[in-house]
Amino acid sequence: MKPHILIAGAGPVGMVSALVLGKAGIAVTLLEGAPGLSMDLRASTFHPPTLDMLARYGLSQTIIPQGLVARYTQQRDRSEGVIAEFDMDLLKNDTEHPFRLQCEQWKLTEAIKDQLAQLPHVKILFNAKVESVSQTADKVQLVAQQEGESLRLEGDYLIGADGAWSAVRRSVGIEFEGYTYPERFLVISTDFEYANHLPKLSYVNYCSDPKEWCVLLRVPTLWRVLFPTRPEESDEEVLTDEAVQARLQNLLAQPQPYKTIHRTLYKVHQRVAKEFRRGRVLLAGDSAHINNPLGGMGMNGGVHDAFNLSEKLLAVIQQGQDVSLLDRYERQRRTIAIEYINASTARNKAEIEERDPVQRKKTQDALRATAADPAAARAYLRKSSMLDALTRAEAIA
Ligand SMILES: Cc1cc2nc3c(=O)[nH]c(=O)nc-3n(C[C@H](O)[C@H](O)[C@H](O)COP(=O)(O)OP(=O)(O)OC[C@H]3O[C@@H](n4cnc5c(N)ncnc54)[C@H](O)[C@@H]3O)c2cc1C
Repeated sequence: MKPHILIAGAGPVGMVSALVLGKAGIAVTLLEGAPGLSMDLRASTFHPPTLDMLARYGLSQTIIPQGLVARYTQQRDRSEGVIAEFDMDLLKNDTEHPFRLQCEQWKLTEAIKDQLAQLPHVKILFNAKVESVSQTADKVQLVAQQEGESLRLEGDYLIGADGAWSAVRRSVGIEFEGYTYPERFLVISTDFEYANHLPKLSYVNYCSDPKEWCVLLRVPTLWRVLFPTRPEESDEEVLTDEAVQARLQNLLAQPQPYKTIHRTLYKVHQRVAKEFRRGRVLLAGDSAHINNPLGGMGMNGGVHDAFNLSEKLLAVIQQGQDVSLLDRYERQRRTIAIEYINASTARNKAEIEERDPVQRKKTQDALRATAADPAAARAYLRKSSMLDALTRAEAIA
């Protein structure tokens, strides 16, 4: 029997895994609960090493023209403006892509879908919601619901890439350890051109403020503005036109109301699954770790999981390497999720929301000094671009 891999979830992580495995000739069945690929405006930043990985499959070449090349990132203060600007070109000897790509994540999954259409041994089943998982010593089975019918499938391995609420993770009983922030995050997108009003704005701007920090991110047609909300505000209150306009006007007063295109309010968590591997079931992406969006590491870390895991599965299936290699996937990627992704994003949040003026000044002085010194700035960028995380993962046996 030819090897067959099951994947739950057709987000960026499930789709990248399907492509890497499918291109190597492995039969893949990918089950997606929704009727089609998500077009939601979620992650919008691709970090340099992610672009390096995706370029091996021609994907960076497809998405770069559909996005914006962000050479600079800024740390700003809502009152003072630019505190520090980092030039990602300092990474030109570290990566083939010394920039962030500002591009909606759905453009990646669409590009992968086009490539998967050329691989008859990779099947995507839409409206197929995985409900439960079981396994024996040499196979894994799942039950899914597809348009009212029960679907039973068997494979050699199952990748649970079914997002934060992963049915795969819950079905095998893996704990999702961590916490949920009391405040929710509000993302508003608008066609208003901030760059015409805020001097020297880059495409990626983290704006600290003791009262209400924000992040201003450019995607090709819109600006996305991320705000924290207060725990005592209800969802309904936050999403009213008045409250949305008040937040935008408070950031930059304008004579006319802002035209808003999307409003998303979501809970934010810092959680990591206690195990990334349970026998023949492997977790990757949001099903394995979730974090706040400050630093743009969620989707990127998930794509790094997908490459690491798929390449190890290929080594086990096609090159006869010992199955214990899959434990190295867990050791590498779980360590990165805890020590690097969760730790950095939690630190980014603590810094941007800091209220103590002495501590704020200390952080801002340190940022200015780092940006002014090319060696220190490169070290900073290697970390914030997730290059160091990959070097660290490689060092884990
Ligand atoms: C508003 C918002 C903004 C974000 N901004 C950023 C950012 O700027 N940078 C960044 O790096 N990350 C960001 N993220 C996080 C990023 O979107 C996720 O990390 C990324 O989508 C994870 O990919 P994934 O494939 O693991 O999971 P998902 O993209 O969640 O995909 C999981 C898929 O599984 C499907 N599914 C779920 N349950 C089942 C089931 N039982 N059976 C079958 N299919 C199922 C879902 O329909 C979905 O298609 C953001 C997230 C949100 C919500």
